[in-house]
Amino acid sequence: MPLLPDAAGRPLRSLRISVTDRCNLRCAYCMPEEEYVWLPHEQFLRFEEIRALVDVFARLGVDKVRLTGGEPLLRRDLPVLVRLLAGQPALRDLALTTNGILLPRLAEPLFAAGLRRVTVSLDTLRHDRFRALTRRDELDATLAGIDAAAAAARAHGREGLKLDSVILRGVNDDELGDLLEYGRTVGAEVRFVEYMDVGGATRWRQGRVFPRAEMLERMAARYGAIEPLPPTDSAPAARFRLRDGTVFGIISSTTQPFCGTCDRARLTADGRLFLCLYARTGLDLRQPLRDGATPEELADRIAPAWRGRRDRGAEERLRVAERAPLLRAAELRRDPHLEMHTRGG
Ligand code: SAM
Ligand code: SF4
Ligand code: SF4
Repeated sequence: MPLLPDAAGRPLRSLRISVTDRCNLRCAYCMPEEEYVWLPHEQFLRFEEIRALVDVFARLGVDKVRLTGGEPLLRRDLPVLVRLLAGQPALRDLALTTNGILLPRLAEPLFAAGLRRVTVSLDTLRHDRFRALTRRDELDATLAGIDAAAAAARAHGREGLKLDSVILRGVNDDELGDLLEYGRTVGAEVRFVEYMDVGGATRWRQGRVFPRAEMLERMAARYGAIEPLPPTDSAPAARFRLRDGTVFGIISSTTQPFCGTCDRARLTADGRLFLCLYARTGLDLRQPLRDGATPEELADRIAPAWRGRRDRGAEERLRVAERAPLLRAAELRRDPHLEMHTRGG
């Protein structure tokens, strides 16, 4: 099937689907406010509607789907959705990004339903820091969730457990090595993520960003020479290998963005399509779907939008001289679709 190129020649290959905007944590870099405006539940796409849209995206070239949120495991009966999507033959990859808290109960049914890979977000191994960063006391549950995911993935012959750690200067930048070593004990590749000034990050400051260059210095100081590895597919992480063979990744969206190879679209829980993490507006797919649009008609809405895509949000932010948070809390309250936890990270 010919791939659908956007205005910069980037094909549409991957889709991140947020299945809920609700979350059981309040990470300081994502949901720092006390109050949020939530999407109405009745507007959430039903599982059959998500499958119908995934079928349309698959015709357009998408072969990778990642479920996210908010916290995706809060969506009731998530394994039922995974089973529905796993039955779409064009999908090469079906992955999940989660904070892990509910994995002790859900890892096994999710892998049994056909999930291929899990990424768990884990920023610290210290209880006091976890409480301060997330405003919840759930480190033990998260670690139990990682164990459960590792065991279930093994039992089902699936690989690729990853841990994503957002590194904030002065908060957890002294834990890179500890996170890496923890990742080794559970068989997970660790990826360090730069703090991004996306919607929702209303406390973002340049001084809190711990850049890729410093991450590499830290790792070299502890482990010696670091070898860069060739890029895999269009994955956002640059990968590196230590002398002992351990591989880790860095997602440098803030200081060295990778918009030039970005093949990713995002679908919110209420069916709005965003072509970039930084996009201000999206394309509503729920209404046409509920009005009975055929797969061809839906494809005819999505394809021109993707063909006209010029977004390079993170690169444009790099050119802003006095960088401050992208959006204020009041703007986010007016349109919760601008929130990171709504568009799925
Ligand atoms: N709740 C799930 C989780 O935390 O894994 C999935 C949704 S969360 C929005 C997806 C990813 O976005 C997480 O790995 C999180 O660390 C990341 N994220 C959220 N805000 C961020 C920010 N300001 N900068 C960098 N990464 C961020
Ligand atoms: Fe944290 Fe993910 Fe929830 Fe955002 S959506 S507050 S990153 S757990
Ligand atoms: Fe893709 Fe937009 Fe992120 Fe750039 S900022 S990598 S175009 S989603």
